[in-house]
Parts: sequence; structure tokens; C-alpha cells
Amino acid sequence: MLRRNILAALLPAIALVAGCSSSSKSPREAALSQLSPEDRKLAEAQGYCAVTSEPLGDMGPPLKVMLGDKPVWICCQGCQKKAKANPEKTLAHAEELRAGVASKSKPRGVL
Ligand SMILES: [Zn+2]
Repeated sequence: MLRRNILAALLPAIALVAGCSSSSKSPREAALSQLSPEDRKLAEAQGYCAVTSEPLGDMGPPLKVMLGDKPVWICCQGCQKKAKANPEKTLAHAEELRAGVASKSKPRGVL
């Protein structure tokens, strides 16, 4: 009985926490909101991972990687190596994404 009361007392708090991240914000928005406003603007301008073309924020907060003197956004740690292995291609793709040239509806799992 006592146990039940504790649960009943905790449930609204749990629901509140869960509701906060699931109903008012999408996971992507929540991830992007962890960036500084300036970084967030840059990441949103690019929109998609320069390596995989996955929407930024889908895998948690996107990562910024500097290629030369240019910041490029990627979706996860795993992309960092690929981005740095082929900086020219990565930069070019990031430019395309920013310009809206690249297909943003590329099927998932291309790479
Ligand atoms: Zn990635």
C-alpha cells in the first residue's frame, strides 16, 4: 500500500519530465537547442550531415568539425573520420547542403 502511494506520488513528476521532451519539442530540436545560438544557426543552415546527409540532430547534438578554416556540421562522431579523410568532398557537400542544391530527400543509409 505504501509502495503504491510512492508510485502515485512519483508518476506525475515522471510524466512531466517525459512530456517536456516529447510533446513540446522534437528530439531534433532538443538536440539542436544544446548548441550555442550561433552554432545552432550554422547547423540549421546546413541542415544535414555533410557526410551521410542525415538530418542534423537526429543522432543527438550535431558536431562541428573544422576543415581548413571552415566549419562543417556532421551528425555523429563516426562521421568525423570520414569528414577529415576527404575534406574537399565534405566541404563541397556542406556547401551544397547550405545552398539547397543537394537532394535533401536522399534515402537513408546511402553510405
Ligand atoms: Zn554521422
